[in-house]
Amino acid sequence: MFLSRASRLLLPILPVSRVRIPVFATAAKMSSDSSKSAFSSSPYSFPDVPAEGAIAKLSGVDAKDPKAVSESQWKTVLSPEEFHITREAGTEPKFSGKYDKFFKPGKYNCICCGADLFVSDDKFNSGCGWPAFSKSVDGDKNIIRIPDHSYGYERTEVRCKQCNAHLGHVFDDGPKETGERYCINSVAVNFLEKPE
Ligand SMILES: [Zn+2]
Repeated sequence: MFLSRASRLLLPILPVSRVRIPVFATAAKMSSDSSKSAFSSSPYSFPDVPAEGAIAKLSGVDAKDPKAVSESQWKTVLSPEEFHITREAGTEPKFSGKYDKFFKPGKYNCICCGADLFVSDDKFNSGCGWPAFSKSVDGDKNIIRIPDHSYGYERTEVRCKQCNAHLGHVFDDGPKETGERYCINSVAVNFLEKPE
């Protein structure tokens, strides 16, 4: 009796802790050593190119507070596909995104608010059908991680810290030094090419 009750209590907890502890431990390790070496010579340091995001098209909205933008306001400045993926946590079809097999030098910003998210130095071809990055700008400076239990999987969703846009997920099966793979919707980001 006691054993069966204990197993009922433990079962929902164990899979979550197995997934989350390594993910956050890796993120903490990354943040201590990724900022200076990884980005000092990367496209992230190129002179400020306006990366305003769709929020710039809204009149009367303080661009410094993207969280104040309502969902109905986002709807007026995003395409239906952009709105569905970023504001309703949708997913673009596999291998359909314009940045899946795209490797020009530059940086990737949030399509909604323009926050710096990824740089091309950290992009790799994962073969999974979506753009993949081994790390985000400045150790998740503009990204939040949220446990996602949908569809029967234990995953970690990544969102823009500035405007809460859904970007994709991060997995701990990356081939590079971080061991992580950010699996990102092309629709959720804007690419800015590094100036010559
Ligand atoms: Zn954003």
